[in-house]
Amino acid sequence: MANQSKQLVVLSGKGGTGKTSISAALAYEIKEQMQQPLVLIDADVDAANLALLLHPEIQNQSVFCDAEVAQIDAQACTACGICLQTCRYDAIIEGQPYSVDGIACEGCGACVFTCPEQAISLHEESSGFWFKSESLVGPMLHAELDPGGENSGKLVALLKQQGVQAAREINAVLMLVDGPPGTGCPAIAACSGTDLALLVTEPGLAAFHDLKRITATARHFNMPCVLCINKADINLKIKEEIVTWAEQESIPVLAEINFDEKMIECVMQGQIITQAYPQSKAAQQIKTLWTGLGKSLSI
Ligand code: SF4
Ligand code: SF4
Repeated sequence: MANQSKQLVVLSGKGGTGKTSISAALAYEIKEQMQQPLVLIDADVDAANLALLLHPEIQNQSVFCDAEVAQIDAQACTACGICLQTCRYDAIIEGQPYSVDGIACEGCGACVFTCPEQAISLHEESSGFWFKSESLVGPMLHAELDPGGENSGKLVALLKQQGVQAAREINAVLMLVDGPPGTGCPAIAACSGTDLALLVTEPGLAAFHDLKRITATARHFNMPCVLCINKADINLKIKEEIVTWAEQESIPVLAEINFDEKMIECVMQGQIITQAYPQSKAAQQIKTLWTGLGKSLSI
């Protein structure tokens, strides 16, 4: 039986730290060094952008349904008004026939049971799509949640479940999860079942504050954490404060990545720095990061 692949989640607690660029660069470096594919998950389902760097080819597209909404059969409705009195969410619209405000409806089903004509039923509502794709580093699972779409934590859990299956199919050694910003449900879903969290921060007060919050979340799930300080040389004072804090928290700092204009150029042009500029300072530091991660994961 194949060994279960290790799971690495990349988290930042906030957007804009370069987490996705580093995830993509790491994924490319891992593929180059290990000479075997890995499975990639873009768990930032509210603003997925890993695909902008990896350019995956979509192989399967599926609808993501996360909620149920009531629908009224116009032919069967006698406009008795009972559903209007039943609904506690003001989701029934009076008329000939009555209808449902799909945004206000919570899918509780109360009106379904009280309608004397059995004119109301619940239907699954699409909130977006999820994709299984092939990228230059291996299978990739990603999604597009509709604007305002809810239950992004459930969608992240679905992507990870599909990722585990894809990893089994190709006997992948590693599943790399580019986590969502924040510490809410999607981040918690991204953490579930992972072996190691790579925390990516930058030397700024807001990023440092969010680093502490995401560390608390990871610790809550007993997940080992390591740290990478991106753009480490843009504020040496705060960078030193982060290093001191990490020592106190027993979080190894695996890499400090200097500000590198090549990183910005790669983002603008949809490139991966370890592929496009392997000799650049930042690419070399990301290679060092992978050396430390590989040891931490024992792979
Ligand atoms: S309870 Fe049924 S029949 Fe009465 S208004 Fe509502 S949908 Fe129409
Ligand atoms: S399912 Fe619940 S929320 Fe939706 S219309 Fe019926 S009673 Fe209102």
